[in-house]
Amino acid sequence: MSKKFNPATAMQNVHQFGEFGGVNPSITDSATYTFLEEKTMIDAFHGEAEGCFLYSRHWNPSNKFLADSLAAMEGTESAWVTGSGMAAITTTILQLCNTGDHVVTSVTTYGGTFAFLKNYLTKFNIDVTFVNIEDIESVKKAIRPNTKVLYTESVTNPMLQVSDIPTLAKLTGENGIKLVVDNTFTPLIISPFLLGADIVVYSMTKFINGKNDCVAGAICASDEFIAAISDVNTGTAMLLGPVLDPLRSSSILKNLATLHIRMQQHSKNAMYVANKFKEIGLKFNYPGMPEHPGHELLKTIMNERYGFGGMIAIDVGTAEIAAPFMEKMQEAGIGYHAVSLGYFRTLFSNSGKSTSSEVPVEIQKEMGLSPGLIRFSVGLDDDIERTFKLVKEILVEMRLI
Ligand code: PLP
Repeated sequence: MSKKFNPATAMQNVHQFGEFGGVNPSITDSATYTFLEEKTMIDAFHGEAEGCFLYSRHWNPSNKFLADSLAAMEGTESAWVTGSGMAAITTTILQLCNTGDHVVTSVTTYGGTFAFLKNYLTKFNIDVTFVNIEDIESVKKAIRPNTKVLYTESVTNPMLQVSDIPTLAKLTGENGIKLVVDNTFTPLIISPFLLGADIVVYSMTKFINGKNDCVAGAICASDEFIAAISDVNTGTAMLLGPVLDPLRSSSILKNLATLHIRMQQHSKNAMYVANKFKEIGLKFNYPGMPEHPGHELLKTIMNERYGFGGMIAIDVGTAEIAAPFMEKMQEAGIGYHAVSLGYFRTLFSNSGKSTSSEVPVEIQKEMGLSPGLIRFSVGLDDDIERTFKLVKEILVEMRLI
């Protein structure tokens, strides 16, 4: 475990004030910015005017406040905030790859990411090889001379595999490849950049914002990479325009301040539920349990204090059993039958039929994704004992235990 880095403290050490001394930074309500001198405007277009804002699609003060806090949390030099997690992922990959390049990716990723890699990159003649990220030999074998990116999720969606980021980083370093890690499931718990990743991407829609009131994303990387994506002539972010609205940035920044407390509670509740699932003999998957294949690895790469995360998956066998089970859970008030994660209420969905439905059924089978897998994002319930009792009642009623 990393005892040296405390991402929440690193973030809290960033002191940001409003224009008139407000305890919250002022909100940018402008698309464009005035210049007193023409020369400064020209310099800004050449990326040579420090501290100036030009146009909100490029940079704006609210996005800069949020980006600076995220960079501090990740230990990166810089960050850029996007209108969705997919925008962060696609901007990063399109910046790193040209026609004829090759990407190696974990086959287990969020379904939208899988679809982008499998169906969309072919437009640009970018080849993608899908691997089991736990099998380092297969990752090595997949690398080609034209490989530009190795892509994975710290803890994968929905299989909850743990990526061995230090080993993958060694491999990419030796081969001149960029390691891009989606840390959406494990903010604060894992610090991918400090473990050797080059670029960390997030769907801030999830735990970081935690309120399910918007979609948003982030790219945390070196000054050089952030300058490259926002370059007025060649930057993917500047030219495709996936910028986050500054009003949203300012609300996410306030929610970021409580992320450490929320992650602790999500993890505590998920661990409680996992132990109970074990007690009643239900088939489940949680990286916090010693039986999980990635548990020992996770213990060596995780930061202290934030637990093993709020994501847990159970397997009820088939989609036909999962459907009424989830409907009953919602009726009982356990949480919402909804996609997404990181919300203060528990969310659950059948991954094979929802957030991984983009993955063809044969591939779902190959990667071991059961048709009866229900992914839970465990909420911030104060009385998780009661919540579990309600789940158990439904399991008994449906003769699943
Ligand atoms: N990455 C992961 C791990 C996700 O689960 C998701 C969405 O479910 C995304 C990225 C995409 O994020 P967004 O919906 O904010 O575009």
